[in-house]
Amino acid sequence: MENRTQPQYDVVIVGGGPAGLSAALMLGRSRRRVLVVDEGRPRNRFAGHMHGVLGRDHTSPLELLAEGRRELGRYDGVEVRDGAVVRATRKADADADAEATGFLVELDDGTTVTTRRLLVTSGLRDELPEVPGLAELWGRGVFVCPYCDGWEVRDRRIAVLAGEQPNPHQAQLMRQLSDDVVFLTGGRPIDDATRSGLLARGIRIEERPLARVETDAEGELAALELADGETIPVDALLVAPVPAPLDGLLRALGAAHAEHPMGGSFVVVDAMGRTDVPGLWAAGNVTDPRSSVPFAMAGGNFTGAAMNATLVEEEIAAAIAAAADAS
Ligand SMILES: Cc1cc2nc3c(=O)[nH]c(=O)nc-3n(C[C@H](O)[C@H](O)[C@H](O)COP(=O)(O)OP(=O)(O)OC[C@H]3O[C@@H](n4cnc5c(N)ncnc54)[C@H](O)[C@@H]3O)c2cc1C
Repeated sequence: MENRTQPQYDVVIVGGGPAGLSAALMLGRSRRRVLVVDEGRPRNRFAGHMHGVLGRDHTSPLELLAEGRRELGRYDGVEVRDGAVVRATRKADADADAEATGFLVELDDGTTVTTRRLLVTSGLRDELPEVPGLAELWGRGVFVCPYCDGWEVRDRRIAVLAGEQPNPHQAQLMRQLSDDVVFLTGGRPIDDATRSGLLARGIRIEERPLARVETDAEGELAALELADGETIPVDALLVAPVPAPLDGLLRALGAAHAEHPMGGSFVVVDAMGRTDVPGLWAAGNVTDPRSSVPFAMAGGNFTGAAMNATLVEEEIAAAIAAAADAS
């Protein structure tokens, strides 16, 4: 029978990407009992190498996570399980006991665990433009971030496809790396200031819609076919996917959301990573589409430490109450 006053874990972390594993590291180093549950589908799994990550530039993103898991092995309070969290319920909602705190967390293997705090670091899904041939090249020829993949295609032929959110800045950032850049408006309107800014720096503007992305015999990006059948040879295509946070658990628990300026509706967290639902925290890409690997690691690091601090506060209050009872 479950002991209500002693949940199995201090913190359950949903997601073992850079944010989740960094939080686990801070909590493990504070002797917290931590369970990380990870489906193993990090956002950058499509990329052979990650960049802009100091000390790890041009290395495999999956190797970073494997190394992170190995490092967590030093901390006996931390457990990492492969699997998915399918449901989380506040104990106060699931249990008539008004004193109940914390969460019940259900895993896809049918087990339910109890925890004092819940941290969601489940990341986001990139909803790609629906152009035939584009999705197959995601992360290898088709990119989102000039800082992540731009250097590798410097001096090459670059195309930037306009997205739902205005993204001519992607073309301007890529112009820093190549003098052969074309901005495809995809039929979207483009204001005069933007147009003159692009043309002034030698960025071509292509108004004809993109019909198809073509590959060469090796399956690598080769050209873009326009609606009238003409093709433009390119070496890289930058797109602006719609960011769709994997936040079903946060929404089901009633956490407040707000529109993000870069598109999409994201959970609202304070500077520490706390949502407006007591005991529920979030970090990384599930909170902010701009979160890079270092940004996600920093968020997880800080949120892990802040969660530990609130657990300590709770323990101070409990110790004072116990001392008062004893006297
Ligand atoms: C193609 C591409 C290339 C990129 N290249 C770079 C780069 O070079 N440098 C850089 O800094 N950034 C890069 N990024 C961005 C980088 O991927 C993200 O910043 C980073 O992955 C965010 O970390 P995170 O921990 O928030 O989420 P993620 O890394 O996405 O990790 C979330 C984890 O949670 C798991 N999960 C989700 N739901 C559940 C659930 N219910 N139960 C259990 N587990 C769950 C997922 O499977 C995943 O393993 C790139 C992104 C893309 C798309």
